[in-house]
Amino acid sequence: MKIMTIYAHPADTVTNCGGTLARHADAGDEVVALILTHGGRIHPNTYAEEWRSDSPDPTLTGSGLADIIANKKHELERAADIVGIGKLITFDLDDEMSTVQQDVVDRVAQTVADEQPDIVICDYPHNPVVMGNTHTAATMTALAGIGSAARYLRNLDGHAEVDVKQIFFTSLPVAAVDGLSLYGVRNDVFIDITPVVGRKIAAMDCFVSQGYDGLFARKLLESNNGEFGRAAGVNFAEAYYRMRNETHSLLPVTDAAMTADPLTRHRSYSEIDIRATYPISGS
Ligand SMILES: [Zn+2]
Repeated sequence: MKIMTIYAHPADTVTNCGGTLARHADAGDEVVALILTHGGRIHPNTYAEEWRSDSPDPTLTGSGLADIIANKKHELERAADIVGIGKLITFDLDDEMSTVQQDVVDRVAQTVADEQPDIVICDYPHNPVVMGNTHTAATMTALAGIGSAARYLRNLDGHAEVDVKQIFFTSLPVAAVDGLSLYGVRNDVFIDITPVVGRKIAAMDCFVSQGYDGLFARKLLESNNGEFGRAAGVNFAEAYYRMRNETHSLLPVTDAAMTADPLTRHRSYSEIDIRATYPISGS
């Protein structure tokens, strides 16, 4: 199986689905990540904070866009290695990207056609009317590109049509444990990332220039993946909302549901102390 992620910024892939990708890579699946923008202006902590110091380091304050982008890409490559992303494709668009642009849609379509993924993972588009959100623009672009690739005709495009089997959305900030709460708007698929949580932390520790390393990495895992884990009945989980309906021959019940023990699960999903198990290096 081949999984392709399509995200706006360099760190998005790891923060949203790095654990899931690590598990798929371990299972022998191919993972390719497409990142649309260079992210030079997103969380530029290293550079912006240096200006606040009493004697700023001129090698940092003198960094131009090319230096900042190169450093971000280096961080991304190290993180990708850790979680098992086999191939990185970076469009390096400016991160002011705020709307769907046809030329970018066409590039995404061509990339989807070249890569032939079975599954695509991208951000939940949130409200597409609010186009100032680059994550929304990225997902609208991804969906349009996937749609274009599905209509490819070999005679005209040099590629046959591409059938992406399922699209999973991340970052819908809703973790309800049942379908009646919140009128059904909730993440409905959870991936248990407990076995690879240390790799997700190590990958996030690579994003030093934007301050995603150290305490923030552990905070995100504890709070975000910890809360999704609570809803899933495991220590840490990543949450997804499916774009397409699923068809089964019989009513599906997962192994996790069959083996869960309601009496003890609140203790069993609280076993791992992230900060003690994965201390910040040097501390
Ligand atoms: Zn982002």
